[in-house]
Amino acid sequence: MPLTSPFGALPAEADVQALMNRLYPICRSITGDGVRETLAILAGYANLQVHEVASGTIAYDWTVPDEWNIRDAFIADMNGKRLVDFRASNLHIVSYSIPINQTLTFAELDQHLHSLPSQPDAIPYRTAYYSSTWGFAITQRQRDAFDRNATYRVVIDSTKAPGSLSYGERLLSDGDGPEYLISTYSCHPSLGNDNLSGLILWTFLLARMAHRPLRNRYRFIVVPETIGSVIYMARNEAAMTGVAGGFVVTCVAGPGEHGYKSSFAGHSLVDRAARKALTDAGINWEEFPFDAGGSDERNYSAPFFRIPTGTISKSKYYTYDEYHTSLDNLTFISARELISTLALYESTIHILECERPLNSRMPYCEPMLGKRGLYPEIGGSQRSAAEASPAEQLDAIRWVMHMADGQETPLSIAMRSGLPHTTINKAVDTLIDAGLIVPGTPDPEPGRASRSGRPS
Ligand code: ZN
Repeated sequence: MPLTSPFGALPAEADVQALMNRLYPICRSITGDGVRETLAILAGYANLQVHEVASGTIAYDWTVPDEWNIRDAFIADMNGKRLVDFRASNLHIVSYSIPINQTLTFAELDQHLHSLPSQPDAIPYRTAYYSSTWGFAITQRQRDAFDRNATYRVVIDSTKAPGSLSYGERLLSDGDGPEYLISTYSCHPSLGNDNLSGLILWTFLLARMAHRPLRNRYRFIVVPETIGSVIYMARNEAAMTGVAGGFVVTCVAGPGEHGYKSSFAGHSLVDRAARKALTDAGINWEEFPFDAGGSDERNYSAPFFRIPTGTISKSKYYTYDEYHTSLDNLTFISARELISTLALYESTIHILECERPLNSRMPYCEPMLGKRGLYPEIGGSQRSAAEASPAEQLDAIRWVMHMADGQETPLSIAMRSGLPHTTINKAVDTLIDAGLIVPGTPDPEPGRASRSGRPS
């Protein structure tokens, strides 16, 4: 069954594919011109604000490194034939490799080669952001083909010098409800599911939400993983202590199952909303517990901030053999899968948008529905498969009236009743129109620990 979105028609596959094709070849890292070019392309879709943070800037326990850029790199035989060529795949270079231009014996070169014996046709993804070294990542077959007695010309035309780290953000701040964080990362070179897919879903989600009236506020950020989220938290510390919850968008277009990686809190509003959206979609999905590895949720939910941050995925990182290799490419992912995960994110955000306590104006006993024309029409009216049956509509009205005590919300009523959130929400709208329900002010996270100042 194709997934649908409460935000209307989903993007065309060709439009998603076009952005995939455009961004995939760019050599990204945690800094550098590849990231800038990527952010400039995304800004064409979603009007981002781009920030530059100078090398040497301190952010909590971290320091912004020198900026790294690369123009070319190769290993050639003594006839000048390129045996390993950066132009063929930017994964061939260990990210942040320092420049080199030397002739080396195979034994000398071999210490700087990385390959995967268990996956002989895959180039592994390797980085060395915080050390001064260089290396080539190659397939095991390429490594085996080297003449052990020959010498090789080794060139890396890179620079590592003071510059800046780039990140993007956009605040959708028209709403007066709680604020949510929607984050992704921009540092991976030509890798598909992790995390080209996340960058693209994030961009389409932002572009689509930017055109909608919204009750809540949303903080979209795109940062290099780890260092970027640390910098962002340090630069926006006060604002981030007020964020009610969030998502890290990563690995959303693989061939595997959908999944949900729970927040550290486990049962926060974002967790419940995501699980309900996945369940209502009628698909198979897998729950992944929080773990202290993973992505930027480590920083968003660090002790001082504790922002409940989850991840809806399709082929989650660590669950597929192609992960962090050249096999996680444009063949491994697809626009269709990405759009299915976009629909799930939009359903989840729609649940957050609808979330507010409901108060019955008829709390003494059940209202008489018939005299208000609230009995759904019974019989042969046309309805689509996604629409609730008249019996379900009546059930939803009864559940909402029964639970609207000023504490319960559309999500809690949907979960308790087992009915789809869309059915409950439609009943809520009907009952508000009929004057039987009054919505209250959202309370984003009752019971979430309050933060009382910085540790000394
Ligand atoms: Zn990764």
